[in-house]
Amino acid sequence: MGERALIDRHRAVMPSWLALYYADPIEIVHGHGRRVTDSNGRTYLDFFAGILTNAIGYDVAEISDAVRKQLDTGILHTSTLYLIRSQVELAERIAELSGIPDAKVFLCNSGTEANETALMLATQWRRSNQVLAMRNSYHGRAFATVGITGNRGWSASSLSPVKVSYVHGGYRYRSPFSGLSDADYIKACTEDLREVIQTTTSGDVACLIAEPIQGVGGFCVPPDGLYGAFAEVLAEYGILFISDEVQTGWGRTGEHFWGIGAHGVVPDMMTFAKGLGNGLAIGGVVARGDVMDALGANSISTFGGNPVATVGARAVLDYVLDHDLQANAAKQGARLMAGLREIAGRHPIVGDLRGKGLMVGIELVEPGGTTPSVRLATAVLEETRARGLLVGKGGLHNNVIRLAPPMTVTEDEVDEALGALGGAIATAEGQ
Ligand code: PMP
Repeated sequence: MGERALIDRHRAVMPSWLALYYADPIEIVHGHGRRVTDSNGRTYLDFFAGILTNAIGYDVAEISDAVRKQLDTGILHTSTLYLIRSQVELAERIAELSGIPDAKVFLCNSGTEANETALMLATQWRRSNQVLAMRNSYHGRAFATVGITGNRGWSASSLSPVKVSYVHGGYRYRSPFSGLSDADYIKACTEDLREVIQTTTSGDVACLIAEPIQGVGGFCVPPDGLYGAFAEVLAEYGILFISDEVQTGWGRTGEHFWGIGAHGVVPDMMTFAKGLGNGLAIGGVVARGDVMDALGANSISTFGGNPVATVGARAVLDYVLDHDLQANAAKQGARLMAGLREIAGRHPIVGDLRGKGLMVGIELVEPGGTTPSVRLATAVLEETRARGLLVGKGGLHNNVIRLAPPMTVTEDEVDEALGALGGAIATAEGQ
């Protein structure tokens, strides 16, 4: 049975809103390092890594061995009713790495679940259902997280357990403040935050949640220090600050272990998922202990912190730290950005090029202006695939190419990707 048949079966049985990439979608059947092979035997260099989730890459012996050793015990699951050594050890490491004083950790299975938990904690702690979120944000697919997702493309429902007010600042390129210097942009957004609190809330807001670099929103990078300035305003009101590190955690931004490090502030809570498991389902919240303990009822995630996921995640974290992948993300990210700057200089369809470390966004526009171009982004997606490179797509207007290879990516692989991207952008522009 060929590829076509699997697509037909997918369409028949999976929801229509579960999008597949490419006119002719790919079934990945094998992976090693930063390369994956599809069911037709074609190999691709992977610069999207399962949506930033295969943080280290494929077929990593240290991780496979750790998981295999756990499987050999016969225990895939025990539930959190019993002590799980790897869960406690992982939580200890994350608490320490967080920089949050007296931190406690709750482990669950996804970014959505992590953010739902953080919202539950903040709203309980503050006894308030009011939440501040950023325009163009993405935080998950459940009701509270869709309720704080500021992107029409991912908001199927307005039903929400929280009352949300949206703040300017995350997405600079199309912001009304885009023409300002870094300092003036921060000032304008901070004034907006204060005004939003004063005009759209009753003051006793529970929290502000923000992605240090917006992921689904198109790898939008605000000026360093923006969230530090926000935190000062939040502190005046006693509003908690949650950093959603689902995409930016574990050193991916190169400069810092957590994306929020660029803003000179330690948040009250951070949420994480994706890269921590290198493909194993795991997410969680790390929070001030007093905030974490704020729930007045039992709460449990049956699979949260299960032995397989936590043994694997511990191996991932060891690998990231032992190999200093944050330094590699900084180094290879700089190389990637330098190469892309040259390409962008030749092609006016690149409206904006932005990023940090191994999170790089290329926003495509119609020639001669800034009109978002889905057409060109789709063409670049297809043309990179034709050249053996997998990349992502996103952004408010779905016109941003997203690059986020595993953090183990090499210089040669960056150069190979640049070759494919240069060719793909040139071909798209000529179409
Ligand atoms: N927060 C951010 C910043 C994300 O990028 C995502 C996933 N794209 C989520 C939360 C939700 O994570 P999950 O899909 O694991 O529920």
